[in-house]
Amino acid sequence: MDHKTELHNNVLHQRTLGGWVSAGGIGLHSGQRVEISMGPAPADSGIVFERSDLPNNPLIAARPENIVSSAFCTVLEKNGVRVSTVEHLLAALFGLGVDNARVILDAEEVPILDGSARIFIQLIQQATVRSLDASRYWLRLKKPVQVCEGDRVFKLLPARSLSLDCTVDFDHPLVTDQNLCFDYDPGSFVNEIAPARTFGFLKDVGELKRNGLARGGSLDNAVVIDSFSILNPGGLRFPDEFVRHKMLDIMGDLALLGSALAARVVANKSGHSLHHNLVRHLAQNTDYCEKVRITPDERDADLPFDLAPFRLPNLQVA
Ligand SMILES: [Zn+2]
Repeated sequence: MDHKTELHNNVLHQRTLGGWVSAGGIGLHSGQRVEISMGPAPADSGIVFERSDLPNNPLIAARPENIVSSAFCTVLEKNGVRVSTVEHLLAALFGLGVDNARVILDAEEVPILDGSARIFIQLIQQATVRSLDASRYWLRLKKPVQVCEGDRVFKLLPARSLSLDCTVDFDHPLVTDQNLCFDYDPGSFVNEIAPARTFGFLKDVGELKRNGLARGGSLDNAVVIDSFSILNPGGLRFPDEFVRHKMLDIMGDLALLGSALAARVVANKSGHSLHHNLVRHLAQNTDYCEKVRITPDERDADLPFDLAPFRLPNLQVA
């Protein structure tokens, strides 16, 4: 196989997991114990959650139409059945180019594990990733799209590969004006973005818990910040861990588009609600974007994307 054909096969085929893996943990907001298993799914099925604790094992697809409005995490609902805090798992699958997977949960909330996507990445690597005999869907932007709320902005610009330019700015000396630009490739995602943990401010913890949120939160699964310092004994994993985690959340929310994405993402003080609004807007407005698949006969044509950054190293080609 020549280099060009190998690159095309690696990037333009849909992918799924090679086998089944599982882990246990607690939900960040519910505090509830949950077991998660994930494994292969056929081409064109996307990422589908299954609730094994409910009668008839209802399914909830990770699709824009199933997004429930929520500010603190990403929640999906279908026929009254929910799965919540799906964003770090979806980011891990999206970041490793896994288009199709079945994810089985025995409770509503995905386990928070260490607060990042690191353990999900390890699970996916343990399951292995294999390619399927079907072309991938890519989302091609026809023009820029943006959603705003005051000075909070989330926008996508047409581009030949995926990059993120993200700024977080909380009214706190440790989380002021952190900006990071990241050019996506799976290896950099695994090392630079996936290990960044969720974070919260100690002053908000009481109020969150009274509202049924953060009940499973602890220093084992979140970076907690008081007025002047980081409370976690081990400190931060990156000096700018907060903006990196925001990028992880963004990738998890963009995974809901259900296709590979080549776009320049610009986020200023954005959060889940803004991400969800943009994902829903794109899903409903075909004048902004189109889903394309590159078929084998088009492989030598001028593609609208640069393939090299999307290449998954050590991919086991089936
Ligand atoms: Zn998060």
